[in-house]
Amino acid sequence: METDWGIATKENNMVHSAAAYDVERNRADFPVLSRKVRGKPLVYLDNAATTQKPKAVIDRLTEYYTSENANIHRGVHYLSEVATAAYEEARAKVQRFLHAVKPQEIVFVRGTTEAINLVANSYGRLNVEEGDEVILSVMEHHSNIVPWQILCQEKGAQLRVVPVADDGELILEAYEKLLGPRTKLVAITHVSNALGTINPVREIIGLAHGKGIPVLLDGAQAVAHMPVDVLALDCDFYSFSGHKLFGPTGIGVLYGKAALLDAMLPYQGGGDMIRSVSFEKAAYNDLPFKFEAGTPNIAGAIGLGAAIDYVQRIGLDRAAAHEHELLHYATTKLCAVQGLQLVGSARQKTGILSFVLDGLHPHDVGTVLDMDGVAIRAGHHCTMPLMERFGVPATARASLALYNNREDVDALVRAIHKAIEVLRRPT
Ligand code: PMP
Repeated sequence: METDWGIATKENNMVHSAAAYDVERNRADFPVLSRKVRGKPLVYLDNAATTQKPKAVIDRLTEYYTSENANIHRGVHYLSEVATAAYEEARAKVQRFLHAVKPQEIVFVRGTTEAINLVANSYGRLNVEEGDEVILSVMEHHSNIVPWQILCQEKGAQLRVVPVADDGELILEAYEKLLGPRTKLVAITHVSNALGTINPVREIIGLAHGKGIPVLLDGAQAVAHMPVDVLALDCDFYSFSGHKLFGPTGIGVLYGKAALLDAMLPYQGGGDMIRSVSFEKAAYNDLPFKFEAGTPNIAGAIGLGAAIDYVQRIGLDRAAAHEHELLHYATTKLCAVQGLQLVGSARQKTGILSFVLDGLHPHDVGTVLDMDGVAIRAGHHCTMPLMERFGVPATARASLALYNNREDVDALVRAIHKAIEVLRRPT
């Protein structure tokens, strides 16, 4: 079963036990969480930028480099076979994780940014022509704006932008009106990295498909916070980054429906993506290798597979329930801070708390919080058009993950009170 927001429910996803959610046990899985920063216990609330890594992932990377390292696919020796099997097993794990029909639909890339650039360069170049339109939303990350902007500039096409209401929800009536005969693609984020809004992606996809328009979802902020089912969603492309899912940096995933990927041209040329090469022409390899030119991030893919095993042991539906409860707790606490305004209050949200404090610059707030070991992010979060929409140059952003607890939130609130005191003190 699936909700309008693309959150797959328990029955079709998880393999975890029925035991109660134990956040303290989860915390113990992440070695970095027990370190001190500036003499204070680390309070890590920058999970939307990147997540910490559990020991299971770190150990798997060490194991790979200690005893399995070799180049993959064309090797005739034992280690190459071991590394190839581990890399392809990681692909199968991603396939099952996303509920894709087959592993050929899973392309390993560097991250969400590369996945979207791949689609813009390959699918976009082939299908977008002068006068055509690509629909985005105001809340997109720059990674889901700039590749389309470059494409549209090259082709003489246009970006059309879905507006956002004051609460941080997309205005669907406006979206529906934008869908037209010139629309070639809709590219929308599943979850906003700056507001936490979970977009009603099923409805977005349904409306686009009603007019025969394919949809790409940017899942960078979704996959670590809810089960995702690309088959039930029926999205055409889905992208995410391993490092936001407790996996390594430098590895990510592009899911694409096989028929679409098959019809696309390669994004990059090089080794492994070909079947044969002469100076006259090249015959391209089968999916997904056609899109994986050069030696890939083998260890990264294997580490991502270990991260997927980890979250499936915990149960993303249970992690989501925990984060939701913590979001509620944090929202109540932050709203009680005088002069603090939350940016983004959508009905469906992940654990992202963007805020501004009267008269204080978010960067200064972030710096004072850091003195207490509280790690948050301050800035435009690579969403400059969204900041402009809300009339702020930047926000401070605390973002939750499955290992955060109420003590983390309490430490955040204490540090915010201290920042107000320190930064408002007359000099
Ligand atoms: N989209 C969203 C919604 C994101 O939050 C991010 C990362 N902040 C990206 C895209 C880009 O991800 P990456 O830098 O891992 O490619």
